[in-house]
Amino acid sequence: MGARLFGWGTESGALTAAEANALLDRVRPWLAITAPVEEPTLGEIELAPPRLAAAGALTPWMRSDPLARATHTYGQAYRDLVRRLERHFAPAPDLVARPPDEGGIVATLEWADAHDAVVIAFGGGTSVVGGIEAPCDDPRPVISLDLEAVSGVVEVDTLSLAARCRAGTRGPDLEAALAPRGLTLRHFPQSFEFSTVGGWLATHAAGHYATGPTRIDDAVESLRAVTPRGILETGRHPSWGAGPDPRAWLLGSEGALGIFSEAWLRVVARPTFHARVVARFPDVGAGVAAARDVAQSGLRPANARLLDPLEAVVSGAGDGGSALLLLGCESADHPVDGEMARLRELAADHGASFDDGDRRPDARWRDAFVRAPYARDVLVRAGLLVETFETVTTWDQLNALRHAAIGTAEDAVAASGSSGGRVSWRLTHLYPDGAALYVTVLAPARPHDRVGQVDEVRTALLTTLAAVGAPVTHHHAVGRVHQPALAASGPALATALLAGAKSVLDPRGLLSPGVLLASSRPGPGRPDDLG
Ligand SMILES: Cc1cc2nc3c(=O)[nH]c(=O)nc-3n(C[C@H](O)[C@H](O)[C@H](O)COP(=O)(O)OP(=O)(O)OC[C@H]3O[C@@H](n4cnc5c(N)ncnc54)[C@H](O)[C@@H]3O)c2cc1C
Repeated sequence: MGARLFGWGTESGALTAAEANALLDRVRPWLAITAPVEEPTLGEIELAPPRLAAAGALTPWMRSDPLARATHTYGQAYRDLVRRLERHFAPAPDLVARPPDEGGIVATLEWADAHDAVVIAFGGGTSVVGGIEAPCDDPRPVISLDLEAVSGVVEVDTLSLAARCRAGTRGPDLEAALAPRGLTLRHFPQSFEFSTVGGWLATHAAGHYATGPTRIDDAVESLRAVTPRGILETGRHPSWGAGPDPRAWLLGSEGALGIFSEAWLRVVARPTFHARVVARFPDVGAGVAAARDVAQSGLRPANARLLDPLEAVVSGAGDGGSALLLLGCESADHPVDGEMARLRELAADHGASFDDGDRRPDARWRDAFVRAPYARDVLVRAGLLVETFETVTTWDQLNALRHAAIGTAEDAVAASGSSGGRVSWRLTHLYPDGAALYVTVLAPARPHDRVGQVDEVRTALLTTLAAVGAPVTHHHAVGRVHQPALAASGPALATALLAGAKSVLDPRGLLSPGVLLASSRPGPGRPDDLG
């Protein structure tokens, strides 16, 4: 992201004035909205003077100007958007480093260590959990390490079907490099346009595949990361059986154990056969049961999302009377009509009806999905709280958790003094043994304490999740925002193992303190046994 002081993506991608007005007109009848808050300008932002000045060989790619610092302060969570609108940029990093290559990453870490500074990896800046935000409880200066220049697809093995990709490569650039060879990674998170390979690896990102190989983890052949203790590289292995998988130590490490410089990722032939259908269920429970049958059928459709009636109507895909199950199959090898026919039978067994030949519900949902972050900017500027929460659970728990999570969110919004709020949900990823539950809250914001309000809603929801052992996230990551809840609810021995890995790879606590693990600054010096 990086270039805008407020807002998703690019200015040219934002909603036009007419589109924004139409959106607000749709919302106005049921939610109180305010006159739009103006976006911040650079001149309105006050930053403390940087506590470090670039020097030596690093000077050409280090910046400390207000624009670079302000655009590397926050990610894209609701709490980030409102702090931008409030012109509150206090956590701005002191320096932004844009190394040209892996050697520059090494040099930045060495320089930071010598200057007792903290380093926070910055990929596309689309984190929604405070992953790229400076810690407020650490007195050290902060360097935001932007991987933008360490990018590109540098090698493709067309025999093994894998591509060596640098960490700063954004989704569209990666796909553009693979397309001439007829290949694709087919990893399309909603943030695809602006997020990066390194960010995906660091957060266990989940792409558009609703079943089967959902996470970037499923595509990883090998990893290469710069740590304060040196380079950690795993070999290219189709599979691993020699003890704990070294890749697993780094995947999802959120910049707290090392900085990814590149990875070999498995790619596939671009699909040429497609089939799509939208199944409607007046009974939401029947939709859930159909989703479960689809997930357990062994068919692994590329798309299989269940939208509750409210999500369906908000996206323009439904009329609010039915839940929708969006189904899609694809293949580069064979026609998928047979698979789709069987999926339709599974849905029909639960009372589904279909809009045969009508592509519009599916197309409208896709369009709304891609443009949702731009629409959110408009709603937040108009005084609405718009935030999403997600988790994953087994099918035996799913309906109970769904009801509990929706009830909790509605109660928390009402308790925060906000009336008329709406809570919708969808199942975003299906597994044979369970599903990811994704909850969206839309409500009038509490003026003057919008961050406090969303934190109250989140705390209530996390308490409900903890009561049934559901994790704090399915794919939004942990960052600073979920770290305390993870520490309270996760297995204590797993946290100890993670702390052990941190003490081996980052003994002086240089990398992203407060992300994944509580921020506790190690004592001076390096433990003797680590050399
Ligand atoms: C509108 C919207 C939609 C989203 N949709 C999805 C979705 O569908 N699926 C999904 O999984 N997530 C989604 N996210 C969350 C976010 O996009 C993902 O977490 C994404 O993987 C972050 O990538 P990034 O390059 O933007 O990383 P950043 O936001 O820059 O960083 C994320 C974390 O990774 C670390 N990091 C970044 N680069 C590196 C590196 N090279 N080495 C080590 N650590 C690094 C950072 O320090 C930080 O902790 C969405 C977010 C938004 C705002």
